[in-house]
Amino acid sequence: MKDEIQNFFKGEVEDDEETLSKYSRDASLLLVRPQVVVYPKDKEDVKNLVKWVGENYARQDLAYLSITARCAGTDMSGGAIGESIIMDFSRYMNRLIGGPLPTNDKSAWEITVEPGMFYRDFEKITLAKGLILPCYTASKSLNAMGGMYGNNSAGERTLKYGKTEDYVLEAKVVFPDGNEYVVKPLSKRGLEAKMAQGDFEGDVYKKIFNLIQENKGEIEQAKPKVHKNSAGYYIWNIIQNQDSENYFDLNKLLVGSQGTLGIVTEITFKIVPDVKYSKLVVIFMNDLEPLGRLVDEILPLHPETLEAYDDKTMKLAVKFFFDFLKNKGPVGMMKFMLSFLPEAFIMLTNGFPKLIILAEFAGESEEDVQKQCENLKKKIEHFKLRVHITKNQAEANKYWDIRRESFALLRKHVRGKHTAPFIDDIIVRPEFLPKFIPELNQILGQYKIIYTIAGHAGEGNFHIIPLMDFSRSDTGSIIMELGEKVYDLVAKYRGSITAEHNDGLIRTPYLNKMYEPHILAIFSQIKRIFDQKNIFNPGKKVPTENTGGTKDYIYKHIAVEQKATHKV
Ligand SMILES: Cc1cc2nc3c(=O)[nH]c(=O)nc-3n(C[C@H](O)[C@H](O)[C@H](O)COP(=O)(O)OP(=O)(O)OC[C@H]3O[C@@H](n4cnc5c(N)ncnc54)[C@H](O)[C@@H]3O)c2cc1C
Repeated sequence: MKDEIQNFFKGEVEDDEETLSKYSRDASLLLVRPQVVVYPKDKEDVKNLVKWVGENYARQDLAYLSITARCAGTDMSGGAIGESIIMDFSRYMNRLIGGPLPTNDKSAWEITVEPGMFYRDFEKITLAKGLILPCYTASKSLNAMGGMYGNNSAGERTLKYGKTEDYVLEAKVVFPDGNEYVVKPLSKRGLEAKMAQGDFEGDVYKKIFNLIQENKGEIEQAKPKVHKNSAGYYIWNIIQNQDSENYFDLNKLLVGSQGTLGIVTEITFKIVPDVKYSKLVVIFMNDLEPLGRLVDEILPLHPETLEAYDDKTMKLAVKFFFDFLKNKGPVGMMKFMLSFLPEAFIMLTNGFPKLIILAEFAGESEEDVQKQCENLKKKIEHFKLRVHITKNQAEANKYWDIRRESFALLRKHVRGKHTAPFIDDIIVRPEFLPKFIPELNQILGQYKIIYTIAGHAGEGNFHIIPLMDFSRSDTGSIIMELGEKVYDLVAKYRGSITAEHNDGLIRTPYLNKMYEPHILAIFSQIKRIFDQKNIFNPGKKVPTENTGGTKDYIYKHIAVEQKATHKV
């Protein structure tokens, strides 16, 4: 296959052992070995490869030919791994194309980049102008822009600002016919013109429009009633008010579709002014019972973020304290150590709090944010919790470090065990948390595993990361059994099995816990409308025989060989 591709491909095509082993992993617990990895130099490479795959996919000598688009490979769902061709955008297609430029909307700017640009590089450009893409992830130092598009990523500021879908103005996308199309919001007239084209692109628009219109009632009913959801295809926001200039926006479907419908080659993001001043309030909870009511009382105060982590995360941070001190320098180290004194005191007097809540407020001046923090403290006085308003950014950073680094700490430190993300992104409405969390703990308690819980308390979205011993013969069955039970519980509370990390290989088989067969059939039809030949990232979102999306496939591909782990 390598030789044939090299005939028309300008970038490298690699199939050596080291490359294939590295690309067999993303940040999920699965291992799927590709046949070849390609690094496109430009969009011509992308289009030519898609055309070649479309023409040759049925050849007997090239079993299950397909393309899995990949950027930084930090996907936790197995969305960035596949059995055939991996197309890595991070080597060459990582440039700034234009901007930041002001838009007609005075409060927003736009910037256009290639998908392989890392967020950390993107942020340098935007922050230099006081601007930010506020849906950034906790993995922002690792991930790239195309992965955010692919997963409809979200983060600590999503509570107030929304997900990636809310920040994509326009994209250039290669469809499975091998042509690149501009995808942007259309007015009713624009849509009618598009549907009348009579070509592949026009057909896609027509069929998707009809499918959504014909099933309007069922689709509305099936919408998960949670603040954010990445499970299944995102069929809810494609069609808007018919008088609007944004009547029909195919990006609403493509963002979050994990490269199963189209491969993005250029993205124009909306970016907004960064906050001027912010301050963090830390709330220590020894009992989870009042959590739902507490969140309910905080949300009307419009915090910038409302995050949480549990006692196990805190214990890990204390245990591996010196990791946090690295790169801080002697003075920074001393300050950082002193800043932990209040926690040391709390631990000595009351033990570890069960949950630490971080509520951040932003505003135009220091006085303004201080006032907001004090308002909160006063409002929640009756809960009789310990509440601490941080004094400065350095102190706030201490809590953020623990929240953001919890997953990395787990990955590095617990000997003989490995992080196993499979129930890593559940979400239920915050008012259900007081009932939901004890039931969840009861399920997890049946298995003698270590796990941490951290997440977005304001949205009821929790990242549970168990540590598993992959040398044990029953690890695979525990993962399957536990996944089943936790997802049943999420379904009972009408939540979503993934708020932001997406379905990939690990969750696609469980979509039936959230959606009726009729909705799953709509997902299959969407896949067929775009990708009749199933050549784009098969086995994700819609199950396919042999190439993923089934429980059997997960079980077979759990990465027993953790030594081959591709550390991201
Ligand atoms: C420590 C850690 C913390 C994380 N925290 C968060 C978090 O807070 N919020 C969150 O949302 N996620 C989080 N994630 C998951 C992941 O980092 C994000 O989803 C991220 O945006 C993926 O970016 P990436 O560049 O690594 O994408 P990849 O892993 O390379 O790809 C992600 C998906 O997008 C598809 N894709 C890639 N390139 C393209 C393209 N050009 N066209 C179409 N599809 C494409 C891939 O096929 C894949 O399905 C975390 C992961 C880790 C390891």
